[in-house]
Amino acid sequence: MDHQESHTHSSHNHNDCIETALATAETLCLEQGQRLTKVRRRALELIWQSHRPLGAYQLLAKLAEEGFNSAPPTVYRALDFLLAAGLVHKVESMNAYLGCAHADKPHKGYFLICDSCHNVMEFDYQDVHTSLLEKAARHGFELRAETIELTGLCAKCKMASTGANA
Ligand SMILES: [Zn+2]
Ligand SMILES: [Zn+2]
Ligand SMILES: [Zn+2]
Repeated sequence: MDHQESHTHSSHNHNDCIETALATAETLCLEQGQRLTKVRRRALELIWQSHRPLGAYQLLAKLAEEGFNSAPPTVYRALDFLLAAGLVHKVESMNAYLGCAHADKPHKGYFLICDSCHNVMEFDYQDVHTSLLEKAARHGFELRAETIELTGLCAKCKMASTGANA
C-alpha cells in the first residue's frame, strides 16, 4: 500500500482519488451483480470529498440538502452497503466513514489518524494482522474484530509544526 501512503502525504490531485474510487465502485458492483444506486454513489462521493472521515449525520445532512431521501434508514442502508462492499471503512474512534482506495483488494482497515488535520491514512495490515492472530491464538482466543487506530501527526503537519522548510 505504499502508493496510498505516499499519496496522502503529499499534495495531490484529489479529483483523481474521487474519480478512481467511483470507477472502482462501478466495476466492483458490476462484478458482484450489485447496483450502485444514486444514493449509494452520491454517499460514496461525499465520503470521498476529503481524506477526513465523514460522520453519518454529516452525510445525512448533505444528502438532505441535495434533495435525496435522507431518512436515516436510507442513509444507513447505503452506508451498510458501502461497508459490506469494502468501498468505505468505519473509523471507530471517530465514529465516521473513510473512503477506501483499495476496495478491489479485500483487507482490514488499519489507520493512522492525524490529530492536527484529521486526515486518516491506511497502512499495510498483513504483518500486524498475522502477529495479532498468533498472539491471540496463544491464549486460545479467536479474534473476530480488530480496531487498529493510531493517532499522531502526519508528515505534512509535522513539517508545518517544526517549520522545517515548509
Ligand atoms: Zn486524495
Ligand atoms: Zn481500505
Ligand atoms: Zn495532519
